[in-house]
Amino acid sequence: MESTAYTDVTLRIYRTLRDEYGFDNLGTVIQAYLYRSREDMRQLADEGAHIRLCKGAYLEPETVAFPEKADVDEQYRQLVEDYVQAPAPAYLCIATHDEAMIQSARATVARHSVQRNRFEFQMLYGIRSSRQLELAREGPYFMRRLAERPANLWFFAKSLFSR
Ligand SMILES: Cc1cc2nc3c(=O)[nH]c(=O)nc-3n(C[C@H](O)[C@H](O)[C@H](O)COP(=O)(O)OP(=O)(O)OC[C@H]3O[C@@H](n4cnc5c(N)ncnc54)[C@H](O)[C@@H]3O)c2cc1C
Repeated sequence: MESTAYTDVTLRIYRTLRDEYGFDNLGTVIQAYLYRSREDMRQLADEGAHIRLCKGAYLEPETVAFPEKADVDEQYRQLVEDYVQAPAPAYLCIATHDEAMIQSARATVARHSVQRNRFEFQMLYGIRSSRQLELAREGPYFMRRLAERPANLWFFAKSLFSR
């Protein structure tokens, strides 16, 4: 998702590919800093859209986007909350490097018992790589390995402290 000059057309392309061309492996991006995003996200969640939620990277005027980080963060938290409570949420990509957003999203998915195969964390390649690994290890594959072989807990603990 790029600047607001392209938000409508980007969403239109997404919906056209999905509904007219039958692509079922598509998602779209929502930028938490835009005022319009709560409504866009609500509609997309109702449509069962797979969404990547980011804060937004472009310089936008105050008429369309929250200028203050605290408000962007608040809307980010709210959008995660809204999406997981929608009637048929499909899949949410929580795209952020911000630990506060990660912790808040983790608490939200836990509170609403969102299945682990219904969301993921995303970061840009090379940024916070060790945190990426920790989050990935919390996934179902990792938990299964621990359950199968409790001795793996020791290897996991050692690798955390050796980083
Ligand atoms: C997978 C992915 C896809 C994206 N796609 C889009 C898109 O389509 N359109 C768009 O507008 N934007 C996109 N973005 C960018 C996004 O909107 C933000 O601009 C960008 O992620 C920075 O915001 P943040 O949530 O990481 O946290 P910020 O609010 O920038 O930072 C908060 C805190 O996070 C930590 N942090 C942030 N960056 C770093 C870093 N580089 N290294 C270490 N710690 C850091 C720091 O503790 C920082 O104080 C994407 C981001 C990701 C991860």
